[in-house]
Amino acid sequence: MLHSSLPIALYILGVTALLGACLGSFLHCAAWRHTHGEQVWRGRSHCPACGHTLGAAELVPVLSWLALGGKCRWCKAPISAKYPAAEGVCALVAVSVVVRWDVSWQAAEYLVLGCILFFLSLVDLETMELPGAPMAAAAVSWLLFLPAHPQPWERLAGGLAGGLALGGGMLAVALMADRVLGRESMGGGDIKLLALLGLYFGPAQGLLLLILSCVVGLALAFAMGAKDRPFPFGPAIALAAWPVALFGEQAVGWYLNLF
Ligand SMILES: [Zn+2]
Repeated sequence: MLHSSLPIALYILGVTALLGACLGSFLHCAAWRHTHGEQVWRGRSHCPACGHTLGAAELVPVLSWLALGGKCRWCKAPISAKYPAAEGVCALVAVSVVVRWDVSWQAAEYLVLGCILFFLSLVDLETMELPGAPMAAAAVSWLLFLPAHPQPWERLAGGLAGGLALGGGMLAVALMADRVLGRESMGGGDIKLLALLGLYFGPAQGLLLLILSCVVGLALAFAMGAKDRPFPFGPAIALAAWPVALFGEQAVGWYLNLF
């Protein structure tokens, strides 16, 4: 894509942004349904206040929300800005993977990962829990995309080492912290999420992810004023995972070149 002419590149990015926005809309809705005990795959989108089923014109990402002034067309109940925000975030994620990997299998792989991380973050923010099924899906997706990589065996070995290092390392730290603090310091879901991302990033970039997650986590905890109450760590890990996915390879290469 980056080698094609500017109009074509812009067209591809536009379509990608739209696709990402639609995915964001779906994921936000799916996370809402998941946390409210509704079935994720069943039923059409509806206004949470009056139950009115949304028509096609009300389902255009971001634009519908702007056109309706952030209100339901029927009952005028305000519609949270979270809807267009979710669409915007996923549009950015989709555009970033295409800029990074062009239109390729790798872009598809990381778009899937980005979607799952986004869903997990929304659920974790709402319920303080990271559901296992989407993480299992991300692990299966990692395995399925392996043959599309130029060096699949290296990626397999690096991924397993990264998963073990991050998952095992965090488990050890968490168990020690539990002992010192006398309470659960870190959720099992957070450890599983780190192990999962270790698969994608391998040990070196995994370490970078770990450091960034802690920085982002502290910043988020500070911003949200969560001093003594429990704080969802999943969104911090997901947020940190994105720069690692996009720039981790260069960052680690640069670091290793220092010696
Ligand atoms: Zn309504």
